[in-house]
Amino acid sequence: MHHGIKKLLLLGAGHAHVHVLASLAQHRPADLDVTVLSPYPHQTYSGMTPGFVAGRYTAEESRIALEPLVKAAGARWVQGRCVGLDAEHRTVSVAGGGPDTAPLLHYDVLSVDTGATMDRARLEAEMPGATTHALNVRPIEGFVHLWPHVLEMARDRAVSLAMVGAGAAGVELLFAAEQAIREQGRPGSRFTLITGGPEVVPNYPEGVRERVLRQLKRRGITVLREACTGFDAGQVKLASGATLACDVPILAIGTHAPAWLQGSGLALSEQGHMLVNAFQQSTSHPQVFAAGDVATRADAPHPKSGVYAVRAGPALAVNLLAAHEGKALQAHEPPSRTLNLLSCGTRHAIASYGPWYLEGSWAWVWKDRIDRGFIRRYTRPA
Ligand SMILES: Cc1cc2nc3c(=O)[nH]c(=O)nc-3n(C[C@H](O)[C@H](O)[C@H](O)COP(=O)(O)OP(=O)(O)OC[C@H]3O[C@@H](n4cnc5c(N)ncnc54)[C@H](O)[C@@H]3O)c2cc1C
Repeated sequence: MHHGIKKLLLLGAGHAHVHVLASLAQHRPADLDVTVLSPYPHQTYSGMTPGFVAGRYTAEESRIALEPLVKAAGARWVQGRCVGLDAEHRTVSVAGGGPDTAPLLHYDVLSVDTGATMDRARLEAEMPGATTHALNVRPIEGFVHLWPHVLEMARDRAVSLAMVGAGAAGVELLFAAEQAIREQGRPGSRFTLITGGPEVVPNYPEGVRERVLRQLKRRGITVLREACTGFDAGQVKLASGATLACDVPILAIGTHAPAWLQGSGLALSEQGHMLVNAFQQSTSHPQVFAAGDVATRADAPHPKSGVYAVRAGPALAVNLLAAHEGKALQAHEPPSRTLNLLSCGTRHAIASYGPWYLEGSWAWVWKDRIDRGFIRRYTRPA
């Protein structure tokens, strides 16, 4: 590589980074070498995962093929995962790559969009048996890979499925699973939602929570307002001391910041997320940027969701080039509220925006249109 060429390293191909790649495809300075480190050759779009579980989309329809997009951007894809970051020496340690993958990548400018993770060690400590007996929602690729096996089992015999975690992701996946098994499985399967607290979708307005409860009731899904304390073969343990017989326990409880950020030298929030400023730039290291669930805005903390990650994409793209060219950075203002479309299977959804909400089959059609549009926008011919 000749002198003067600078290295931009993109960690993960999350919602904001697919936009960065599309934008590099439009314009990439000749003196910028771009590498993407990501574990899979595609980016699974979580917004369509419930639709995949319900049987509406194939796995291919609900993801973006990375290679054509990376190629269009004039970038290089390195398969692997970041397992360590040294902000002082500007290096990233890589695992899970092929035999030719370098164990260490150097950067001049770094951007992190690796999303949320479920830390297996922490899950196991909080709920013994979680990593051996339960199906974890993240990494989402693992879940997408295993779901067809669950469905196969349910075609053979009635099953008992329990969703641990009553956030939007858990609730949407449970509605989807119930629909798929009702439509494709043996009759007599049972479905349970274990909330871990008093509320179902606690981050949503009361009207939405009531509507979710109504939909759960309509589908015959049992709601247990209890915490899960662990798993054994064929059972879920509850805080009351009771156990629930269960063939398919699914864990969709809150996510964690990645463990590899600890010790990176980067400024982190109390929960361990990368602290960034209004430019999506590390508050401690000006050549490091981040967006999505891995980051926390120090100036304006906002909920972590795919919508916020998507919205940060354009500003991130501009700022990565500005950092490379030594130009002024552009502030990104996260939206104060976002449109949330919570699907209840593939025929009904609850739309909410701040305190307002409405529901109906039209809301599902709307979500389907938005989600397919997102995939289409970043899909390049192979
Ligand atoms: C079932 C489900 C449904 C959801 N539905 C919605 C919805 O409708 N609307 C909404 O706003 N939010 C939704 N969410 C939340 C949403 O998934 C997250 O907020 C969103 O994915 C965050 O985007 P991101 O860009 O930060 O990361 P992600 O989309 O998770 O992308 C991260 C990328 O980084 C890669 N990666 C991970 N670790 C590493 C590593 N160590 N090294 C290199 N690469 C790595 C991953 O493979 C992936 O390519 C849903 C979540 C779930 C589980």
